[in-house]
Amino acid sequence: MSAIRIDDLTCAFGDARAVDGLSVTIERGELFTLLGPSGCGKTTLLRSIAGFNDVASGSIWLDDQRIDSLPAHRRNIGMVFQNYAIFPNLNVADNVAYGLRARRVPGEQIAARVEKALQRVRLPGYGSRWPHQMSGGQLQRVAIARALVIEPSVLLFDEPLSNLDAQLRREMRVEIRQIQQSLGLTAVYVTHDQEEALAISDRIAVLRGGRIEQMGTPQEIYRTPRTPFVAGFLGDSNMLSGVAGDFDGAATPVRTCGTTIAVPGKVAESGARVLLSIRPEALRVTEDSRVPSLAARLVLREFLGEIQRLHAVLPDGTPIRVSALGAAAIAVSEGSSFGLSCDPSQIVVFAAP
Ligand code: ATP
Repeated sequence: MSAIRIDDLTCAFGDARAVDGLSVTIERGELFTLLGPSGCGKTTLLRSIAGFNDVASGSIWLDDQRIDSLPAHRRNIGMVFQNYAIFPNLNVADNVAYGLRARRVPGEQIAARVEKALQRVRLPGYGSRWPHQMSGGQLQRVAIARALVIEPSVLLFDEPLSNLDAQLRREMRVEIRQIQQSLGLTAVYVTHDQEEALAISDRIAVLRGGRIEQMGTPQEIYRTPRTPFVAGFLGDSNMLSGVAGDFDGAATPVRTCGTTIAVPGKVAESGARVLLSIRPEALRVTEDSRVPSLAARLVLREFLGEIQRLHAVLPDGTPIRVSALGAAAIAVSEGSSFGLSCDPSQIVVFAAP
């Protein structure tokens, strides 16, 4: 397996820079996810690693080998596409063997390598089946086997699960993660599904406008987003405006929506206008009048099985969402008022724009 180093990479279509001076190192054996809104450059970056896109400037390295000017078939990179890209006129074994034949692997090795790849994706003995006899999940496994069979240095996934239904997506992401970990593959994974990114990645890069806005482990990005964009993009976040008070040596009081919350640490200068990012699960419905709380009015309750989601408004009209486990929020009825306390250690403070 190889590490991937991308150095000051720019990819342009006409005057538009889809990837804009981006640098990153992806470690060996790491599953690295590119996440971001539509048009932020995820696919362009992935395709330039694979060799399907021209690079305007900068360089791409696999370990010590510079690869950005090599043709795609000489990069030893496997790619799994969103639409599977399975040839309908070839059976499963011939689909999987495609990359081996293109690389002129001797015929006597092919059958064994194909079967080994099919075993890895839990489709042993499926070689003689035809694509139209396979389910969507099985076809995506064939696509993974076809990428694995060439024993690539790096495996690239371009939204591999977005054509599957929700339950199969959750199952397949676990399978992909297990295959990647058991083979120690270096993988780059593009998705727009935040939950998928959080679930399977070693690290995530959140892209915006062709650049990396923030990079880190799923926990780091979720718990300590560095910008309001990241807080809003990855997971749900309530944004409340406030004004910071005097730091008392331990916490900074922030006045917001009729209450004052003591946020640990010195988070802003006294008098500064700030934005508080509060995750829905950091809020609790409280009836304890001694606890500083936000006064809220319930607009709508969604029952989502293991959690309930409360949609409420604060007195100044700011909408606020609360996630409550199980029956914790059941006492509140729609239209009624209630108090919300929050865990200050889970609040992230940004300077107000
Ligand atoms: P999505 O999630 O919608 O697939 P993405 O993050 O993968 O989006 P890209 O497909 O990399 O984004 O596109 C980045 C930018 O480059 C977009 O503004 C897009 O319109 C532009 N772009 C991509 N491919 C081409 C192309 N072949 N010709 C012209 N512009 C392109």
